[in-house]
Amino acid sequence: MILPGKTLGVLGGGQLGRMFAHAAECLGYRVHIYEPSSDSPAAEVSAHAVHAPYADLVSLEDFVRGCDVVTYEFENIPVEPLRQLESAAVFHPGWRILEIAQNRLREKTWLRENAIPHVRFAACDAGGDLAADIRRIGFPCVVKTADFGYDGKGQLKVVDEAALEQAVAAFQGQRAVVEQWVGFKCELSVIVARSSAGETRSFPVAENIHTRHILDFSILPARISPEVESRARALAEAIAARLGLVGLLAVELFLTDSDELLVNEMAPRPHNSGHWSLDGCVTSQFEQHVRAVAGLPLGAVGLTSPAVVMVNILGDSWKWSGDRCLGEPNWSAILGTPCAHLHLYGKKEPRLGRKMGHFTVTAGDVGTALDLARRLKSALQA
Ligand code: AMP
Repeated sequence: MILPGKTLGVLGGGQLGRMFAHAAECLGYRVHIYEPSSDSPAAEVSAHAVHAPYADLVSLEDFVRGCDVVTYEFENIPVEPLRQLESAAVFHPGWRILEIAQNRLREKTWLRENAIPHVRFAACDAGGDLAADIRRIGFPCVVKTADFGYDGKGQLKVVDEAALEQAVAAFQGQRAVVEQWVGFKCELSVIVARSSAGETRSFPVAENIHTRHILDFSILPARISPEVESRARALAEAIAARLGLVGLLAVELFLTDSDELLVNEMAPRPHNSGHWSLDGCVTSQFEQHVRAVAGLPLGAVGLTSPAVVMVNILGDSWKWSGDRCLGEPNWSAILGTPCAHLHLYGKKEPRLGRKMGHFTVTAGDVGTALDLARRLKSALQA
């Protein structure tokens, strides 16, 4: 067990690292951040930060030797330096899990090999016959790059022969995955923690609404049956055990029209769809992550309110004239609502599509929470 007072290292300096640092420092830990860029939301609130490339083995080794355990908040960290430093530090989750989750092809192959329900797919190597793979999966389907895809980036939906030609041109020379387009009732996610002592606990299921491929709302409790809720949590817990996870894992799922649960993606870190837990749960996902990697007992995960909704605040909520930013959103409606909580990440420069913060709303039922959340979101631009 790594007791309070010790040092937790985080690779990556974004908002997930920042909220991890808040939680860790509440429990009395010191947090050190390793982040290539000097403009880092997490470094601002941490005891110590190193700004150097991930491939700089000397700086990275020096950093990890100064930490009692090292975790990460960003998936696209090169795995090779972590593998080389395996004997220099304790990494939770381990680099093998990161390696699976950061590449769609490895991720889907792992799901298939472990008999975890997933979307039907075909793998296409760089230089492979993408047109044949698309025809094998059939229309409609979606082509995704194998590496570094997130929030719908590097994806193309293919509905007919004309779109097929476009996809073949767009993905030339890239490794890609062709997925069947799934008709779903809703998108869900489950965050599961597993501690170094082997204790496992999943959070209640979140129902997620995306707009232009970016998470817009997370709704708790999800509007699903208790049977689907427990099936989704059991699935996430089984994945965590099978991966040998220590830390936090987010599992994104489609609930199909025939009530099947299919895994879309996994992320071995805190997740945007778990931010509701900061204001609507006994233990937040960030505190649970700290507890899991430090080997402390895991925290309770009951909702503290009958309903909670989380809304992402993107740079789009700032006032714009073309690509010139004219001013801040109007925060007063959120700040003036007793059951609403505002979280901003301290990013200096707003950009369209950039996650700048989020807010949560708690209420007596999901309908009321969602209505209020929508009204407060529109009021940002008043
Ligand atoms: P991803 O980057 O894979 O999480 O995809 C972003 C969003 O695109 C998902 O949250 C879904 O809304 C949608 N999407 C991705 N893959 C599929 C699919 N195979 N079928 C239907 N919708 C999809």
